[in-house]
Amino acid sequence: MNKVKIFAGPCALESEEQINEVADVIKSLGLSWIRCGVYKPRISPHSFQGLGDSGLEILKDIDLDIITEVTEPNQIEKVMDTCSAIQIGSRNMYNYALLKEIGKRTGDFPILFKRGMSATISEYLSASEYISSAGNKNIMLCERGIRTFEDATRFTLDISAVPIIHKQTQYPICVDVSHAAGRSDLVPSMAKAAIASGADALMIEVHPNPMKALCDGPQQLNLEQFKVLIDELRTFDKELI
Ligand code: PEP
Ligand code: MN
Repeated sequence: MNKVKIFAGPCALESEEQINEVADVIKSLGLSWIRCGVYKPRISPHSFQGLGDSGLEILKDIDLDIITEVTEPNQIEKVMDTCSAIQIGSRNMYNYALLKEIGKRTGDFPILFKRGMSATISEYLSASEYISSAGNKNIMLCERGIRTFEDATRFTLDISAVPIIHKQTQYPICVDVSHAAGRSDLVPSMAKAAIASGADALMIEVHPNPMKALCDGPQQLNLEQFKVLIDELRTFDKELI
C-alpha cells in the first residue's frame, strides 16, 4: 500500500501546552510527523514572528518527527539538530542564496521545498536545482496554491501540479491544503482531492483553538475536525504515516 505522510500541526508554535495538545492527538492517531513554524515569514513586520530559538527548545521534548521552516542560513544547523526535515516556504522559493546554502550544508537531510505562489511549475523545478546541484537531492516538492483572479479561496490549489510533477521528476509531492484554501471548511474536500490525485504527503494546519491562533486561524482545523478528517482519509487505499 502506498504511504502518505501527514504533516499536521499548528501554523506557528505558540506555547509548550499548545504543541503538546496537538502532538498527543497526532500520536493517538498513529501518525508520526508534526509541523509548526518557529521562524515565521510574515507579510507584516508587526505580526507575530514566531518564538524563534526558544521555540526550538520547546520542540526538543516532542517525540515526533518535526518539520519546520528555515528562513535564514543561520537557522540551518539549529533546525537540523532538533527536527527531521527542513521546510522552505513559498516566499523563499526565489531566495537563491538561501537555497544554495541549504543545498550545500544539509547533506541528504530531508527538505520540503514549497512552490512560490506566483511561480510556474517550470520556474519552480528550475529553482529546485539550486538545492540539488549544491548537494542535497533529498527533496520533496510541495504545491501550496498559486495566485489567480479567484478570491473565494486564499490561493488556488493547482491540483494538476501533482501528476505533472510525477511525470516530470523523481521527487515526491506534498499538497498543502490549508494555505491553498485559506478556510478550514474546504480543507477536507481538498485533502481528499490531493490523495486521489496521487499526492505523497499532505500538509494540514491544526490548532487546539483556531479562533485564538496567532496566525492563519481561519484555515486551521480544530483537533476534533482533524480526527474526523484522518478517519475519512483512511478509507482511501493508502497508509497514512
Ligand atoms: C507555512 O507552511 O507555515 C507557510 C508559511 O506556508 P507558505 O510558505 O506556503 O505560505
Ligand atoms: Mn500558516
